[in-house]
Amino acid sequence: MTDDALTSDLGALAYDPAPESSSIARLRESYGLFIDGDFSAPESHEQFATLNPATEEVLATVAQAGARDVDRAVASARRAYDRTWSKTSGAERAKYLFRIARLIQERSRELAVVETLDNGKPIRESRDVDVPLAAAYFFYYAGWADKLDYAGFGANPAPVGVAGQIIPWNFPLLMAAWKLAPALAAGNTCVLKPAETTPLTALVLAEILQQAGLPEGVVNIVTGDGATGEALVAHEGVDKIAFTGSTEVGRLIQERLAATPTRLTLELGGKGANIVFEDAPIDEVIEGIIDGIFFNQGHVCCAGSRLLVQESVADEVLRRLLRRVDQLRVGDPLDKNTDVGAINSAAQLARITELADAGEREGAVRYTGACALPDRGYWFAPTVFADVAQSHRIAREEIFGPVLSVLTFRTPEEAVAKANNSNYGLACGVWSEKGSRTLWVAQRLRAGVIWANTYNKFDPTSPFGGVRESGFGREGGRHGLEAYLNV
Ligand code: NAD
Ligand code: MN
Repeated sequence: MTDDALTSDLGALAYDPAPESSSIARLRESYGLFIDGDFSAPESHEQFATLNPATEEVLATVAQAGARDVDRAVASARRAYDRTWSKTSGAERAKYLFRIARLIQERSRELAVVETLDNGKPIRESRDVDVPLAAAYFFYYAGWADKLDYAGFGANPAPVGVAGQIIPWNFPLLMAAWKLAPALAAGNTCVLKPAETTPLTALVLAEILQQAGLPEGVVNIVTGDGATGEALVAHEGVDKIAFTGSTEVGRLIQERLAATPTRLTLELGGKGANIVFEDAPIDEVIEGIIDGIFFNQGHVCCAGSRLLVQESVADEVLRRLLRRVDQLRVGDPLDKNTDVGAINSAAQLARITELADAGEREGAVRYTGACALPDRGYWFAPTVFADVAQSHRIAREEIFGPVLSVLTFRTPEEAVAKANNSNYGLACGVWSEKGSRTLWVAQRLRAGVIWANTYNKFDPTSPFGGVRESGFGREGGRHGLEAYLNV
């Protein structure tokens, strides 16, 4: 069968809708702040709505924490640190972490549905990636809690104290797990601030912490917008800030904390290069490119948003890539067959639209995936730009959406030079059949993570983090403990 005949054949195959039921979500109408082991109203009694970005419907209202509420949360974390958690042995802390991991597994369907409703990501991803990985990070760090002496930081490494943790909206539950699990394993107490558009799975997690019997105040969860985050950063009772989000806000936080004793780790944006050599197996390459940029609507800090393809195979790769893009199923995130869900917010949709339009204006060739978009909600069709120059904004700025920029190269040296021509340095992918070439390239790339013949692979045992404007500090693995130990 020719390529084109195959395409039209697949086009004729229509899937029936296969929606996951949202009834398991059991959302409350409104949520308070989780402080000192229980939910309470914020002092101002101010609430804001969180939407389902696929329908623009209000899912629930959550509390807007002010500076006084943040103060109450930090005081609670300090009390818990002094009175209970710092006196709890590693083996005991591990038991709580194992319990949390098992409860995440027990409530995994509920968590996946809530995540998909609040964030807009496909249920296939929340069910198969976000939630199982969140459990895996708790399991993994549970194993470290009683073995800190062997983590390579000397005997008896001490915790830092109270950790303030600010997370983004792209992987809400998973980022909460990345922050809480190592902090608790190392013996710290926490104040976590979820993103304003996706607070709900963190609040379900608060219920799970209650179920697990975690002592009061060991974890506090304060919902709110950037002002809440700012209050947490400014609080003098916080010993460490861990932030994941935009480079812009990361810079503000670093300025705020300069010349203070507060420790800081930043996990910021990226403009990952996915480098394809002519000898790479092309079918795998196409799937790897698709996963690299369209996973989670491209709302991924390490997304492979710049495709660097060797000139000799560029035409073929682009042709097959565009055909594959046309087959992506965009729509109802709760449908189990959906590949690409909703854009998380109107603001993010506006940012993506603006950058994509700039790409066209600057002279790149725009290709839009053939898909019908729903009438309501925030949507952006999978988009590929060909003939992109390194100077184009779409080759330099993080788009954080389903938009791929395609550039070409001739030699490995040129591939490395183009990949490194970025202010960011979070992740890259290398596709080649030759191990020696992959290693040669990997050694020369300036990025925290290099994937070989795969992309967007996450594992709790493996450290993750960036260089340059992608931030500093590592999360995951043994390295991830360091941020939460006084070493
Ligand atoms: P953001 O950096 O504003 O938000 C991330 C978190 O920081 C949220 O919880 C937010 O409430 C909080 N925050 C905002 N202002 C703060 C402040 N002054 N002090 C303390 N905390 C503050 O990101 P955004 O506006 O949601 O997205 C903007 C862009 O950032 C995106 O287009 C994308 O390029 C990038 N981004 C990257 C990541 C990542 O994982 N690296 C995540 C989200 C966004
Ligand atoms: Mn939401």
